[in-house]
Amino acid sequence: EYKGMSKEQMMEIRKQNCNPMTMKITYYKKPVFIHQGYMQWLWDVDGKRYLDLFAGVATVSVGHCHPKVTAAIQRQLKKLWHTTNIYIHPELHEYCDKLASYLPDPLKVIYLTNSGSEANELAMLMARLHTGNFDVITFRGSYHGGSQQTMGLTANSSCKFPIATSSGCIHGLGGAVQYPKNYLKEAYKLVRQRGGICIADEVQTGFGRTGSHFLGFQGHDVIPDMVTMAKGIGNGFPVGAVVTTPEIAASFVKASHFNTFGGNPLACAVASSVLDTMREDSTQQNSLHVGTYLMTQMAKLRDKYEVIGDVRGKGLQIGVEMVKDKGSREPLPPEAMSGILEDVKDMGVLIGKGGVHGQTFRIQPPMCITREDVDFFLAVFNKAISGYTDRK
Ligand code: PMP
Repeated sequence: EYKGMSKEQMMEIRKQNCNPMTMKITYYKKPVFIHQGYMQWLWDVDGKRYLDLFAGVATVSVGHCHPKVTAAIQRQLKKLWHTTNIYIHPELHEYCDKLASYLPDPLKVIYLTNSGSEANELAMLMARLHTGNFDVITFRGSYHGGSQQTMGLTANSSCKFPIATSSGCIHGLGGAVQYPKNYLKEAYKLVRQRGGICIADEVQTGFGRTGSHFLGFQGHDVIPDMVTMAKGIGNGFPVGAVVTTPEIAASFVKASHFNTFGGNPLACAVASSVLDTMREDSTQQNSLHVGTYLMTQMAKLRDKYEVIGDVRGKGLQIGVEMVKDKGSREPLPPEAMSGILEDVKDMGVLIGKGGVHGQTFRIQPPMCITREDVDFFLAVFNKAISGYTDRK
């Protein structure tokens, strides 16, 4: 029982009163009832501890309830939560100045939103106003949000005259698919030759997750015209952003734009402390070291098991693609994927799933995980895979 409610009652409320879609995206036959988190750990209502390697889809960046971020929220809670952007308030200006210092020229003008969908909507609007073009090209299997227009971006487009290509630099939901060398550079060139502009969706890859760089595009020798951000920039607090060039921002002045919650003092105080915490805790370096270790060790399991087809990614944005066998490379069927996921969860580790056929396990933990956590996960994963192989 939790807060006077049994698990059965919670499930009944979930079925009757919550968005029915949430029943579809629940990964587990036996659901997890989470009520507390600290750094890379989550606890369910029975007190069972889980190592969280999914971080609410790469959203918890520095750690669940990180003490420094929690302290920043508490300080700001007592001062001011909200005011309109008609006034000047220090938190917004402090944050924009700080964030701009992490971005390469000419990406210096920041618009704050409350989510990734909102950031991508705004980016498309700005792109259309700036270029006068309409069409948008993106990648098959990519995800850019749940609003009407961003949902339209997940399909494959065959338009001839693009205005913008929207691209996460390693796909998340698509299953940690990486671009081949020079791909992005060539794609940007082709788009720009046709009068288009390029948008990098860094909602999952943002802020050091790829280990080698602060943002994903930085490993590809390109500078986008716009970058969209969300998720990890607030460590789980709703914050999103579009960053663009002064030139594009000047075109956007023609339009009217107002966002009640975007850039509110509380969100800015949180996002600002997330940036400081990332620096103080060296989360990017940790992503590089622990992520590389995880991938190297996972590659050994790939060599051992016929069903592990591929291990890929960068830093702590990792995909493990599961196949029927290495010869056919056909995706491991959904029942098999669910069975493994359930076993991994029962042994105390939460990971995600993605890919066009749902065949890729996704590992995108809070960036504070350690090598010991990786060893624990690998032991669990090894046991789950050998269990599946034995059952077959
Ligand atoms: N872009 C990417 C790459 C995402 O992964 C997501 C969310 N999964 C979004 C955009 C949309 O963000 P939000 O859910 O905050 O609207």
